[in-house]
Amino acid sequence: MNPDLRNLIALQDLELSIASLQKQSSQIPNKTQILENELARIRDEHDREVARSKDLANQRRHLEGEVDMLQTKLSRLKDQLMIVKTNKEYTAMLHEIQTAEDQIRREEDKILDIMEETENMDQLLKKAEQEMLKKSAEIQEEIRKTTESAPKLESELARLQEEKNRVEATIGDELLARYRRIAKACKGVALAEAKDELCSACHVRIRPQMYAELLQTENIYACDSCSRILFHRDNS
Ligand SMILES: [Zn+2]
Repeated sequence: MNPDLRNLIALQDLELSIASLQKQSSQIPNKTQILENELARIRDEHDREVARSKDLANQRRHLEGEVDMLQTKLSRLKDQLMIVKTNKEYTAMLHEIQTAEDQIRREEDKILDIMEETENMDQLLKKAEQEMLKKSAEIQEEIRKTTESAPKLESELARLQEEKNRVEATIGDELLARYRRIAKACKGVALAEAKDELCSACHVRIRPQMYAELLQTENIYACDSCSRILFHRDNS
């Protein structure tokens, strides 16, 4: 293979690697931010569940306080029942006692409902907390890895850049200028492998005579269709 062409291939490989690493590197802050948002969301959700559980406990305490008050009222009414003088007073008192008892029953039903909900919730919370801790640890690990990858990417980029400069210096000015022109027009890919008589970039058939010369000589040819510089891997 033409040594200039060999160097051009190396240059293109290096440039494509550099572009890919630069892209990865530029995505790090965004990726980290997405992970941090996810972490905050998971923690918020768990905090809301914990708050709901506390809210239920407060409701229960409040209802229990009301039941205590009603019980006190009830025993006072029962005491008063002993000392009423008239039938009318007695009936009114009985009615009041009945009302208080009904009220106590209703409040106690509510307390039972809350106890049941609390029990379910506590079980779910225990499970949810474990999940949350596991997921948080995973995300934190991911954030750590992503953050740590930055300096590695940077040093790899510096190494490739150095290598690129070295290869670039070995290529003649004219060919390099041609390569740059095509690369600019073709999204950074100025070389195309000629394979099975086709240009592997645009998939247009290469003229048979040119293809034969491409395989046999060290001349540099370009695809008639996309203008990319053609090369053939001859395993040498
Ligand atoms: Zn082509």
